Amino acid sequence: MDFKDSPEEAAFRAEARAFLAANARPKGDGAPLAVRSDPATLEAAKAWQRKKAEAGFACITWPKELGGRGGTPIQQVIYAQEEEQFETPPNVFAIGLGMCVPTVMAFADTATKQRFVAPAVRGDEIWCQLFSEPAAGSDVAGLRTRAVRDGDDWVVNGQKVWTSGAHFSDFGILLTRTNPDVPKHKGLTMFWVDMKAPGVEARPIHQMSGDREFNEVYFTDVRIPDSQRLGEVGAGWQVALVTLMNERLAVGTGYGPTPEELMALARALDLGGRPAMADQAFREKLADWYVAAQGLKFTKFRTLTALSRGQTPGPEASIGKIVSANQMQEMSAMALDLADQYGILNDPAEAPFGGLFHRNFMFAPGLRIAGGTDEILRNIIAERVLGLPGDVRVDKDIAFKDLPTGR
Ligand SMILES: Cc1cc2nc3c(=O)[nH]c(=O)nc-3n(C[C@H](O)[C@H](O)[C@H](O)COP(=O)(O)OP(=O)(O)OC[C@H]3O[C@@H](n4cnc5c(N)ncnc54)[C@H](O)[C@@H]3O)c2cc1C
Repeated sequence: MDFKDSPEEAAFRAEARAFLAANARPKGDGAPLAVRSDPATLEAAKAWQRKKAEAGFACITWPKELGGRGGTPIQQVIYAQEEEQFETPPNVFAIGLGMCVPTVMAFADTATKQRFVAPAVRGDEIWCQLFSEPAAGSDVAGLRTRAVRDGDDWVVNGQKVWTSGAHFSDFGILLTRTNPDVPKHKGLTMFWVDMKAPGVEARPIHQMSGDREFNEVYFTDVRIPDSQRLGEVGAGWQVALVTLMNERLAVGTGYGPTPEELMALARALDLGGRPAMADQAFREKLADWYVAAQGLKFTKFRTLTALSRGQTPGPEASIGKIVSANQMQEMSAMALDLADQYGILNDPAEAPFGGLFHRNFMFAPGLRIAGGTDEILRNIIAERVLGLPGDVRVDKDIAFKDLPTGR
C-alpha cells in the first residue's frame, strides 16, 4: 500500500481538517468531553452529528440522496483519522449508523429507506440493536424472544439485554424467533421496531462507571406490522450476519489511552523521587505496549488496503479489537496504579488527565465483551484466518424446541 495521500486525498484531508478546526477543539486542549449519557450530552452529540451531516462528513460513503456524501471508503478513513485528534461529543450513533441502518439499507424497501436513513445520518433519530438476551449472547442464534403471526401483524413477547442506548433510541432492529420447530439458525426473523410502541419498555442498567448506557428491554404483546420485516420469514440469521459483519468494522480499534498518553502521565508523576518514566520496570511494560500498538497500526493498514481496493475487510479485523481492548485495560490499570490514591478519582475536574485513564479502566472490561468476547474472536481467528478445526457445535441440526435448557 502507498501510505502517502494522493492529491485528491490530500485535498479532502485539508477540507476535513479545516472543518474540524473551525468547529471542535483539539484533544488535550482542556478537559475531555464527558461520556455520560445525560440529556445535555445527548443534545451535544446530536448537534455535532447535524453539523457533520450538513458539511458532508457524516456517513461519507453513503449515497447523497440518503444524506451521505457519496464519497469513498478512504475518505471515510481520512476523516476518522482527522477527527480522532479532536475532542468531540460521545458517538451515540455508532451502533445505529455502524450496524442498524446499514442493515435497513440492505433489506428494506425504497420508501422505508427514504423515510429513515437521512434522519439517522443527521442524528435526528437514533437506532439500537436488539439481539442479545439473558440466555443468548455469544450464541445469539439461541434467542427466545417470540414473534407470532396474527393477521397482518406479528405479536412479540420476550426480553433483550445489554441493549446500548435503547433508553434514548427511536427505533431498533429486533431479532426474534418465529419458528421453534427448526434448528436454531433457521427459525429467526428480523424486524425494525418503533421503540415508543406500546409494550416496549427499556430499563437502563446502572454500570460501575456510574453511567447508564445499556438496558434491559422488555416486549409485552408488542404488535409489529409485517411491513416492518427485514428479509424473509426464517431468514433472520442471514440478515443478522450483515449487521454483525458491519459490527466487526464499527467496533474495531482506536480506543484510548495511547502509549503516548501514558508516557505523558508517567513524565508528570513522581515515583520514589524521580519521574515514573525513568522506572525500568515501567519502561519495559511500556515498550511491550508500544510494540503491540505499532503492530495494530500496521494491521489496520491491511484493512485500509482492502478498503482502498474496494474489498470488504476479512475476519482479520477481529484481531484489532482483542489487542486494543486488552491494551486499554492493562494500560489504564497501570496509569491508575501510578497515580496512587489519585487514581480512584473520576471527576474530570479533579482526576489526572481529566479522568481519561479512570474512564478507560471502567469501560475496558465491557469492550472485551461487546461485539464478540475475546474467546469468540479467538475462535473466529482460529477458524477463519488460521484454518484450524471448528468449535464443537452439537446443536446445529436439532429443532430449537428440543434443545435442552436446564429447566
Ligand atoms: C458494553 C456492551 C454493549 C453491548 N451492546 C449491545 C447491544 O447494543 N445490543 C446487543 O444485542 N448486545 C449488546 N451487548 C451484548 C454483547 O453482544 C454480549 O454481551 C456478548 O455477545 C457476550 O454474550 P454474553 O454476555 O451473553 O456472554 P456469554 O455468551 O454467556 O459468554 C460468557 C463467557 O463464556 C465464553 N464463551 C461463550 N461461548 C464460547 C465458546 N463457544 N467458546 C469459548 N468461550 C465461550 C465467553 O467468551 C464469555 O467469557 C453489549 C455488551 C457490552 C458489554
